[in-house]
Amino acid sequence: MSGRILIADSVATNRIIMKVKLSAASYGVVQAETAASVLNSLEEDLPDLFIIDVDLPDLDGITLCRKIREDPATTDIPLIIVSTRTDSPTRLAALRAGADEFLPKPLDEMILLARVRNLIRSRALSEELKLREGTAARLGFAEPVTAFTRPERVLLVARRPDIALGWRRSIEGRVSAEIEVMPYEQLLDSTSKSREKPDLIVIPAGLKSGASGLILLAELRSRAETRHAAILVVHDDGDLFSAIAALDMGADDVLAASCDATEMSLRIRRQLDRKAQADRLRATVEDGLKLAMTDPLTGLFNRRYALPHLSRMAKRALAESRPFAVMVLDVDRFKRVNDRHGHAAGDAVLREIARRIKDKLRSVDLVARLGGEEFLVAMPDTDIDAARVAAERLRKVIENAPVMLQHLPSKGVAVTVSIGVAIGGTPDGTENVERLVDCADRALLWAKSGGRNQVTFGQSAA
Ligand code: GH3
Ligand code: MG
Ligand code: MG
Repeated sequence: MSGRILIADSVATNRIIMKVKLSAASYGVVQAETAASVLNSLEEDLPDLFIIDVDLPDLDGITLCRKIREDPATTDIPLIIVSTRTDSPTRLAALRAGADEFLPKPLDEMILLARVRNLIRSRALSEELKLREGTAARLGFAEPVTAFTRPERVLLVARRPDIALGWRRSIEGRVSAEIEVMPYEQLLDSTSKSREKPDLIVIPAGLKSGASGLILLAELRSRAETRHAAILVVHDDGDLFSAIAALDMGADDVLAASCDATEMSLRIRRQLDRKAQADRLRATVEDGLKLAMTDPLTGLFNRRYALPHLSRMAKRALAESRPFAVMVLDVDRFKRVNDRHGHAAGDAVLREIARRIKDKLRSVDLVARLGGEEFLVAMPDTDIDAARVAAERLRKVIENAPVMLQHLPSKGVAVTVSIGVAIGGTPDGTENVERLVDCADRALLWAKSGGRNQVTFGQSAA
């Protein structure tokens, strides 16, 4: 996966060496000598990743990192800080400023490239989510998702309980989240059973038996409950092979076993924040899709979803030479319900009717609200006799019991529906969905003129 990388280093040879390595891995490289030239270049084009040396001539790399993080346009772009200064305060300052990684110089090429691959991949994923959110917003159905209030859940899984408890002591008080320690043997079992999905899981690179924790990583990524969790892999000091493998297998971050408590907490906090952001984006996209296809009053599918779905059902019926039924239901004298009991009561009646219809159908059947007090039902694999039985059942389930309303606890509102039915997929019938719905509509009119509260079949099915 290629991407554009901006390297800021005051020493030309350092820049050139890095450029050679990154270009060989097919990344595009832009070079900058000073912090000012980095900031200037951002006005023209944004990179996919920054690699910034701490010792820049005009502004130190850590302050530059902070500036990049403060600007909403660049706040999410991955950033690696590199330095010949490897003391803990410098390292922590870099992470605190919002760097995704701190790498000591001279750089280990393999680790650098693994980190770059990993960060560019996760950036591509979050950009994809943002793009979808943007599309949803432009189509006018992305609504702000309610703020995320559930406490975050962190699972610590170590080779030995004392190690996990040590991690817990390290991060407790520094990371505000529910922290749970779990033996690795139980991890896969208990996450599938637990009600709350973990937001972040810390796992070891190597397990007791000598088995690789990376198998655990692959397993966690493949399970629905943990697919979106952030995963941090702790590897033995100097075990760069495991670190590289973990980054390439989809770990969100890796850290050495000897890393101090503050560093571990900073890395966990950063991953929890990124996870929360990704969750918010995903929820907006999902909510947007839901809003696009469903009717907010009844929760049924809307017309926009129903008609293309019906077309697919018709194509399948034709291919398999099986009949299917299309029904249009209209509430009788619904205007009176509104006039007598008010619009809110009318809404409650529509919701209840929707619920009863849905309740009487199979999961393969489609129920949609076409608009107003009109509903569409489409039933695959249904011939004229089965359709008659099903339509009668729907008619009766509405007629049989009045709809109870909160402000009319004793009586409720008696309502009935008229139903027009058309059968598709028959040799003499039509596969054209619009004509089928028209046919059901005409049948509905006969049901109305015939006295309402009845089922009538359209001509093509007669
Ligand atoms: P018919 O038996 O011939 O179908 O008579 P009707 O009164 O049901 O038909 P008409 O088309 O005259 O009236 C439908 C009414 O449904 C008019 C409209 O105000 C009401 N309506 C449409 N959508 C909604 C809604 O979302 N909520 C409520 N409460 N009423 C709605
Ligand atoms: Mg009506
Ligand atoms: Mg109507």
